Amino acid sequence: MDFQDPGMIDPFGRAISYLRVSVTDRCDFRCTYCMAEDMTFLPKRDLLSLEELDRLTTVFIEKGVKKLRLTGGEPLVRKNIMHLVRQISRHLKSGALEELTLTTNGSQLSRFAAELADCGVKRINVSMDTLDPDKFHAITRWGNLPKVMEGIDAAQKAGLQIKINAVALKDFNDHELPEMMRWAHGRGMDMTIIETMPMGEIDEDRTDQYLPLSLLRAQLEQQFTLSDIPFKTGGPARYVTVSETGGRLGFITPMTHNFCESCNRVRLTCTGTLYMCLGQDDAADLRAPLRQSEGNELLANAIDEAIGRKPKGHDFIIDRNSKKPAVARHMSVTGG
Ligand code: SAM
Ligand code: SF4
Repeated sequence: MDFQDPGMIDPFGRAISYLRVSVTDRCDFRCTYCMAEDMTFLPKRDLLSLEELDRLTTVFIEKGVKKLRLTGGEPLVRKNIMHLVRQISRHLKSGALEELTLTTNGSQLSRFAAELADCGVKRINVSMDTLDPDKFHAITRWGNLPKVMEGIDAAQKAGLQIKINAVALKDFNDHELPEMMRWAHGRGMDMTIIETMPMGEIDEDRTDQYLPLSLLRAQLEQQFTLSDIPFKTGGPARYVTVSETGGRLGFITPMTHNFCESCNRVRLTCTGTLYMCLGQDDAADLRAPLRQSEGNELLANAIDEAIGRKPKGHDFIIDRNSKKPAVARHMSVTGG
């Protein structure tokens, strides 16, 4: 970098230091709350190449991004994904980037865990909504729980810290979440529970799936002693410690609590579209400026312009009457 970039400050004075990159919209699962079974994916020709993704993320890092999360779809099913991870890891070595991490369904972890650790990845999130193999197959449609468990074993063996992310689903896993928490904490893993968000058309009715976490927390408090702690990972989760397990539990409540005030993140899709808010449709195309010139000036300008439009917050609502999602795109486009 031959000039000092002032960084990315949005109109509400929030410094943008966290970039989530969805490296593919494809996935080897079809979780019922995330995708329809017969999803139509983007044509491969629309995807940014790994070299283009590297160039784009590098510009964001030069503009002040300190934490980068790869997500998807399933990030580990993108062809040659480890090439991109290896490339980005040079920014960890230089100190420009503080953390490189990913969110995964765990299906490919046994294959990649050691290499991820070797690239400087220290912590990962693994999404898992049940410990029952049959229910796991039912909710993911295509997933295999023992394979994910192997992946978790491999990741822990490689020294990666794991956080388990579970989506709270009414009448599906609400009664099982205490047991999952005991299991996660017993293996030294944090756990975060997420409210379902109304994103994208799916085959089911979202009002049937929605479970407010305020209710779940009250249920958990009948069995456990939860103490609020100020622990922050740069994300929207609010954490408690659980006296009985000695572990940490997070709650992500986009529906019941507005987590926008301290939002420091933006999301990039695998086609180079930048979403400034998970819960809004406004987006900026970065692929055109990326391809228009070999230098990065156009791109840097387009990013500044987009950050200047970052909205104050979202207005998710699960509409009982229209049954329409609040946001038309699926979570797999922006990766959560
Ligand atoms: N495939 C990877 C995985 O499952 O971890 C990464 C992408 S996935 C879209 C990221 C996270 O979003 C997962 O934890 C998943 O459970 C969550 N998710 C997907 N659809 C959601 C929805 N409608 N509401 C809330 N969370 C959702
Ligand atoms: Fe795939 Fe993750 Fe969506 Fe499940 S939540 S379908 S694993 S992208």
